[in-house]
Amino acid sequence: MLCPFCHHSDTKVVDKRDNSENNLTRRRRECESCGKRFTTYERIENIDLYVRKKSGKLEEFNRDKIKHGVMIALVNREISERQVDDLVNQVELHLLSLGKNEVESKVVGETVLSKLQELDPLGYLRFASVYNAFTNISDFKAAISKLEENV
Ligand SMILES: [Zn+2]
Repeated sequence: MLCPFCHHSDTKVVDKRDNSENNLTRRRRECESCGKRFTTYERIENIDLYVRKKSGKLEEFNRDKIKHGVMIALVNREISERQVDDLVNQVELHLLSLGKNEVESKVVGETVLSKLQELDPLGYLRFASVYNAFTNISDFKAAISKLEENV
């Protein structure tokens, strides 16, 4: 960090404050050459995460899109928006924990399904029916018996 006054390259941190609310760290610095003080703000940038669609197209990971899909699956269920946000957070953290910049859309869908299965079985079935494009009753029956195996 260059001193803005004399452009000396060595500055020391005299005070540091984290603001976890907005991922902001405020640092009070002092130039080791001229002794003047100044403040820097450091922010964690969003980690780039891309989703490879079945079509091969690459899209930026979109929390809102996932949230929207989950909310639709949970219409009239006793699940709060807060719980949905938590679920989306868990999905995002899981995807980031894979340590890749790019994940297949299939992995995203399966991660949502596994979290949804814990949260609300009916919502899980609704989401699965759209996501896996169920076309008939036997698809549902198969999904339900799979669910029951896990109970
Ligand atoms: Zn200086």
